[in-house]
Amino acid sequence: MKACPVCLTTDVKLFMQGIFDCEQTNVLECGNCGMQFLEPLMTGEEDYYRNYYAKQASRHFRSMSMVDIQNRAITHYNDYQEIYTHLLENRQSILEIGCGSGGFLRFAQQEAPLTALFAIERDQENRRFVQTTLMDVIFFRDEDHCKGHLFDLVAGFGVFEHLRDGKSFLRRIRPMISQDGVLALTIPNKMNPLVYMYNLPEFRKFAYMKQHYYTYTEESLHILAKQCGYVIDHFTYMQVWSLDNHLSWLRYRQPRDFSDITSQLSPNTLHSYNQDMIRQKTTDLFMVVMKPTARHIG
Ligand SMILES: [Zn+2]
Repeated sequence: MKACPVCLTTDVKLFMQGIFDCEQTNVLECGNCGMQFLEPLMTGEEDYYRNYYAKQASRHFRSMSMVDIQNRAITHYNDYQEIYTHLLENRQSILEIGCGSGGFLRFAQQEAPLTALFAIERDQENRRFVQTTLMDVIFFRDEDHCKGHLFDLVAGFGVFEHLRDGKSFLRRIRPMISQDGVLALTIPNKMNPLVYMYNLPEFRKFAYMKQHYYTYTEESLHILAKQCGYVIDHFTYMQVWSLDNHLSWLRYRQPRDFSDITSQLSPNTLHSYNQDMIRQKTTDLFMVVMKPTARHIG
């Protein structure tokens, strides 16, 4: 059995055989730091991300335009407004890596109109869409082209789990963070209620896919941060899909339009359910905010 890619222990066991888009890929779990990782890791990433949205369409129950995708993203930032607004406080410059359809940049423009916005996005369709719907966002081709710039917030939302080499990413980003700046990443939480609390085999299969190499835990992120010259500032838990979606999955065991269930539940019920998941840290998403440790002088 392979060693854990983060803590390097060989105490690794098989968590699941076969994933959403590959029967030959297994999910392994580290007995020490708790993180999960795919075996084997995907090769040929470039092919994988070609026509990304067309491929992702098989995961949605209806077709989504770029506007739909951006609006859905903004709904999330508004739902957790307090958390994201706090992240934007007193920031003069923000770099978002993998800005997607630009939902967070639009949210940032509303909440902190004076903040300078920079972004990196490798998908051309996304870049064009952001440039036509948002003014004043400056794009860099990649991290190497940001050299010499300092940012008060570097954000990667739904990005880190897609990186095969998270350590090299963290090390490359570190010099770009200003004195009091932070790096904020949102990543899928291992303790997704449909995977653990309800232990739904159909959802388990749906949740693990080739593009998510790793499923991190607090422990593994503490270790990773230390290895790369950071210290964890805090973790924040968020639940994206609420009770309506969970009831639908439990009843129908597949992705579907669950608005029939949503219409019978009050927004308060959905909100309370999410708060319960957050209290237990059994959510589908969490955020890690880390800071570079004191820099060497000279
Ligand atoms: Zn480990």
